[in-house]
Amino acid sequence: MHFVEFMQANGHQELAVWTDNDAGLRAFIAVHDTTLGPALGGTRIWPHATNDDAIMDVLRLARAMTYKSAAAGLPLGGGKGLVVADPRTDKTEAMFRSYGRFVESLHGRYITTEDVGATAREMEWISRETKHVVGLPESMGGSGNPAVVTGYGLYQAMRACAEATWGSDSLAGRRVAIQGFGNVASSLATYLLEAGARLIVTDIHEGPRAKAAELRGVEVVAPEVIYDAEADIFAPCALGGTLNEDTIPRLRAPIVCGAANNQLRDPADARRLKDRGVVYAPDYIVNAGGVINVYFELAGSYDRGRAMAKATEIHDTTALVLRRSHDEGITTVQAADALAEQRIAAARRG
Ligand code: NAD
Repeated sequence: MHFVEFMQANGHQELAVWTDNDAGLRAFIAVHDTTLGPALGGTRIWPHATNDDAIMDVLRLARAMTYKSAAAGLPLGGGKGLVVADPRTDKTEAMFRSYGRFVESLHGRYITTEDVGATAREMEWISRETKHVVGLPESMGGSGNPAVVTGYGLYQAMRACAEATWGSDSLAGRRVAIQGFGNVASSLATYLLEAGARLIVTDIHEGPRAKAAELRGVEVVAPEVIYDAEADIFAPCALGGTLNEDTIPRLRAPIVCGAANNQLRDPADARRLKDRGVVYAPDYIVNAGGVINVYFELAGSYDRGRAMAKATEIHDTTALVLRRSHDEGITTVQAADALAEQRIAAARRG
């Protein structure tokens, strides 16, 4: 499908293109929907092979942000930025100041923050050209590392899953298998261990594995066996696509609830999980702590307590989605999408 047809079919509002040969920049910004508020979403830095690949990626990511913020009850729309570059070798101040001028040219319809390939350093460069950027370091009055709030929100979602599955939201004695022990998983682990859960952790890198091994109540296993772990909850906290037709049949846990974006490789995997009796908590519902965190930076002087309070609501949103999926016989992903669409439709009606 041509990207213009894709935009029409999915209700995108805008796609902006920016090239700056002097700064070595080629970038795209997609604004999907601003019904609930300005379009907020990170800037991804990725060396796409073709412009078509880059455009389709930014359009899909922008749409996903509309759903994430709407379901989280935030007054934000969905958008995304994409800088076509290799994040390991190509990032320069000139490039990101030019990108900052691109963001500024949209006059606040799009607000940017970090995404894959980006760090606080690029956000600082962008902020020299526009005020429409969040996720700045705490030293600049920003909200700092979002993973603390994301991990807390994920813990709240797990409690809701436990309640729906076992009739009690206590995680004491439950075994949680965590795939990927990075920023979010480290935060999540603190809450889970405090609640008396036991953890089975893996990571592809030795550093995170060693960090996990230092914690009491944590067993570290090899990456390829995490799917087979004897666990009550499986938490994908690495990269997307790890739930698929090969891995789903191996899962022993009756609950899947993790931070990674786009956990399902294929939309049919939601039905695959449901048919196996696995409660799948949709990724964009349970990892909304990150966007909640930057929203409170946008809303004025950042206060972590307020961000945490809002992230507590992820418990009730998860419960609502699971209940609707159960009552209507639809997948949890369909239930989550319906919730987001209802909130947008209600705002349109005024
Ligand atoms: P991170 O880079 O700090 O951690 C990811 C970890 O996963 C790394 O330690 C990496 O070595 C490991 N890993 C990668 N592939 C693996 C594999 N196949 N098996 C095992 N381990 C593997 O990232 P993060 O900030 O903790 O985010 C984790 C996920 O959550 C990402 O998908 C991210 O997009 C998503 N997410 C993060 C936030 C946030 O606030 N940071 C918010 C929303 C969503």
